[in-house]
Amino acid sequence: MAIEGIRHLVECHCILPQYRNRNPPVYHKFVVFSVIEDDKVKPKLAQCNNCGIIHKVVDICKSEIAHGMEEGNSIRGIEDIKLSLPQKMCDFLSQQKPDLSTWEYIEFLLENNLESEVTLNKDQKDDVTQLKILHIKPDGSFKVKTEIRQDEVEIS
Ligand SMILES: [Zn+2]
Repeated sequence: MAIEGIRHLVECHCILPQYRNRNPPVYHKFVVFSVIEDDKVKPKLAQCNNCGIIHKVVDICKSEIAHGMEEGNSIRGIEDIKLSLPQKMCDFLSQQKPDLSTWEYIEFLLENNLESEVTLNKDQKDDVTQLKILHIKPDGSFKVKTEIRQDEVEIS
């Protein structure tokens, strides 16, 4: 069974204050983590980090608002994920403060003994971007490195 994890953006119906007067409206997007099993996205609930409304994530970059669901009591948060991470990783991430989807992604990599690189932070000056990257190896060990890129990069 092929399994993979992905961070992707879903669109909400809310608008951030700085975009309030835009026409056409610029809806807020937030990052969610999803598991793809045999090419199918596992549906899950996610809460908008701006307005708090609950979404049902049904596909990559696609979600439906879960009407009538007021609280996301069943949604896993960072505190829940901390329970299953090795202490060293927990301490490190608590310091770096990545968003929920990054915590979920790292937990997923460790659980499935997968190797990947996760961008934690970036500094940007003109056309130079330095990324802080967490490299997770299949044996669960990890290393932080930096990488300089010349052009704009998309954090994915
Ligand atoms: Zn929202």
